[in-house]
Amino acid sequence: MTPIQNADLHCHSTVSDGTLAPEALAARASANGVELWALTDHDEIGGQQRALAAARDCGMRYLTGTEISITFIGKTVHIVGLGFDATNPDLIAGLRRTRGGRDVRAMEMSDGLAKVGIKGAYEGALKFVGNPELISRTHFARFLIETGVCRDTNEVFRKFLIEGKPGYVPHSWATLKDAVTWITGAGGMAVIAHPARYKFTPNEEFALFTEFKSHGGQGVEVVTGSHSVPEYSIYADTAREFGLAASRGSDFHSPDESHTELGTLPFLPANLTPVWEALASRIQ
Ligand code: AMP
Ligand code: MN
Ligand code: MN
Ligand code: MN
Repeated sequence: MTPIQNADLHCHSTVSDGTLAPEALAARASANGVELWALTDHDEIGGQQRALAAARDCGMRYLTGTEISITFIGKTVHIVGLGFDATNPDLIAGLRRTRGGRDVRAMEMSDGLAKVGIKGAYEGALKFVGNPELISRTHFARFLIETGVCRDTNEVFRKFLIEGKPGYVPHSWATLKDAVTWITGAGGMAVIAHPARYKFTPNEEFALFTEFKSHGGQGVEVVTGSHSVPEYSIYADTAREFGLAASRGSDFHSPDESHTELGTLPFLPANLTPVWEALASRIQ
């Protein structure tokens, strides 16, 4: 069999902050030539059975997936989990706890926005929510665009939803150790998502990768919709330096919002071990 190249192992459905159902995502990925797919909803694996069934219908191979929010040295970092047993009780309980604070946080975000004259943001964001346990900043962004406060998602985040802005509420997510342990304990591989997004100093980044490895983390996203072309090379080097497998994923959320389409990024650079090689026995 020819080796897999078009793997897309990072995207979001209506089960978290995407706008397409798992079945529509699968069809879209397959139409773009994806051979191996994973749905990686934030802090949630409720869409996994539908995603697997849809992948089978489209003739794609499938890895289970999720993207866990963690807090590391005071900043939010995302850890992707791939190829785990989606019935593992510790993973299910850990993800449920991680989702737990989102509703109160959303009400506080709404209070912050009300102080700058934007009323009804909680209720407005809820209209876009597909999973009541998973209200996210993305849903607030959709509300602020719908009401004409901003033109696009970038503008919403820049003006309202990032640290220091009126709709930002500091939040403590899971720990790095917990997230990696939940994933590996369920037989999966933990992968650092889009490392360039965190804007860490070299020392902070070294600490993240070192601690991640010490807990049993094994992968890093190299080719992702959140990286620029030069960043593919930078993190290919990081993967080799730390002896990590490399992942590839669009981080697709929506046809209207995402600039990176499912299955269309460049393939992984040479001389890297793809995560799907190490996960061969977990592919369904
Ligand atoms: P939350 O988990 O509620 O903090 O929301 C995080 C989500 O917001 C991410 O997964 C992205 O989908 C989206 N997001 C974060 N930062 C930005 C940004 N600067 N521009 C557009 N979307 C963003
Ligand atoms: Mn998202
Ligand atoms: Mn992310
Ligand atoms: Mn993502």
